Amino acid sequence: MADLYVDGEWREPVAGGRREIRCPADGTLAATVSEGTRPDTEAAIAAARRAFDTGPWPRTPERERGQLLLRTADIMERDAKEFARAESLDTGKRLVESEYDIADVVSCFRYYGGIGGVDAGRVIDTGRDDAVSRVVYEPVGVCGLITPWNYPLLQASWKVAPALLAGNTFVLKPSELTPSTSVLLVRALAEAGLPAGVANLVLGAGPEVGAPLSEHPDVDLVSFTGGLETGKRIMATAAAGVKKVALELGGKNPNVVFADADFETAVDFALTAVFLHSGQVCSAGARLVVEDSIHDRFVDEVVRRARQIRLGGPFDPDAETGALISAQHLAKVEAYVAAGLAEGAVLRCGGARPDEPALAGGHFYPPTVLDECTQDMRVVHEESFGPVLTVERFSGAEDDAVRIANDTEYGLAGAVWTQDAGKAQRVARRLRHGTVWINDYHPYVPQAEWGGFGHSGVGRELGPSGLDEYREPKHIWQNIQPRPQHWFRG
Ligand code: NAD
Repeated sequence: MADLYVDGEWREPVAGGRREIRCPADGTLAATVSEGTRPDTEAAIAAARRAFDTGPWPRTPERERGQLLLRTADIMERDAKEFARAESLDTGKRLVESEYDIADVVSCFRYYGGIGGVDAGRVIDTGRDDAVSRVVYEPVGVCGLITPWNYPLLQASWKVAPALLAGNTFVLKPSELTPSTSVLLVRALAEAGLPAGVANLVLGAGPEVGAPLSEHPDVDLVSFTGGLETGKRIMATAAAGVKKVALELGGKNPNVVFADADFETAVDFALTAVFLHSGQVCSAGARLVVEDSIHDRFVDEVVRRARQIRLGGPFDPDAETGALISAQHLAKVEAYVAAGLAEGAVLRCGGARPDEPALAGGHFYPPTVLDECTQDMRVVHEESFGPVLTVERFSGAEDDAVRIANDTEYGLAGAVWTQDAGKAQRVARRLRHGTVWINDYHPYVPQAEWGGFGHSGVGRELGPSGLDEYREPKHIWQNIQPRPQHWFRG
């Protein structure tokens, strides 16, 4: 089947390439998809440019664009089972987690669909009766949307929904490892009635499809979610063409536990914070920063429970978490653990590939806890993006907790656990992270902005400001009594 979508048509790639997608849990063939290259990307950019410059979409009233998003949400909800299965096969994540993701995707489309036409800009009081003035919003233009493999459909939706609502056209490039649900998303948009050329999809590798999106003069904005190093490259390339850039990058997120926290709940969430989706979550609470006086008891309990987490494939009803995305990623996680141990961390559990025969065909790595860590260790300040929890102690002083939690180049998310309401608010305000949870970890809602301080990114997704990435405020002033001014007498 042809999987590239250009100018309203499903096409085979110019060079005829195909790529096999294998399930990370057991290596079975999940899909065989078209593999695009530069000429396909250029054709998609040209289609998006034409659709923006001459097509009806940028001039369609925002309320109608919102209605298309609502129809798309209905279609995805109808086909949720197919979406979830495809997502699990590509990523190896448990089916139930994919089902949650699809529900979140539907909510995202409904959120942006629902605010369509609500904010029509603003009227300025000119203080005069011969002029009117207003600020309206215009779409940015052609958007290059580049997404990662950990939440493939969710990350695509966070870009596609606001980009469309604002009236843009786009070329979507999903991770080459997890393309299937992006194909289904574009199919749903076409079924909902999106005009040809507005949504374009090119599958393929970063250098062949992603790079041209940040280089091409006909692309106005690049919105990227992925790793820090790729993000820096994209920003540098986009700078040459003065493109708008939105980046959602990594995180090395602190989970701060004070001694007065509800012990059992804090332990429970400390596990979810870091081991959900085997740690392949940008906001994973991978750094446990725990008050000295409860450190031993807290870590013992985390370790006891971490040892019991059951690994398995996406359709194994007993599995609690799944495989890592690839052999290469597994090797990277192992190298981070080895580096931590070499630098003096104490291995409390995990730390070696499982030897169960049932897991032999997948890229599995067990929940791993490294105790007695310090901020100078690579495993503490760099993103391993795997099921690896590092533990640091703090004295109990708020200043101490905040200093350790903020000692990171990233600033995506974090949490604070205490039953002292004032302390919770004080510490939350001082954490330099885009999302801070108090006595919780991981919930997010499409109404609230998502994105990071520091090297975690540029700009925000979700919420009203998520829409601002994709539109430009434009001031329109109109003299309504034009007449000669006689500024110069001659
Ligand atoms: P990655 O940077 O390797 O790849 C991301 C995307 O960029 C892929 O589609 C890839 O093909 C493409 N790409 C690669 N080279 C490119 C280039 N030169 N030009 C343009 N595109 C290129 O990231 P990944 O391994 O897929 O994802 C994991 C990373 O994503 C982690 O660092 C994680 O923290 C981050 N992430 C962040 C968020 C967030 O909301 N902040 C959410 C999810 C994931």
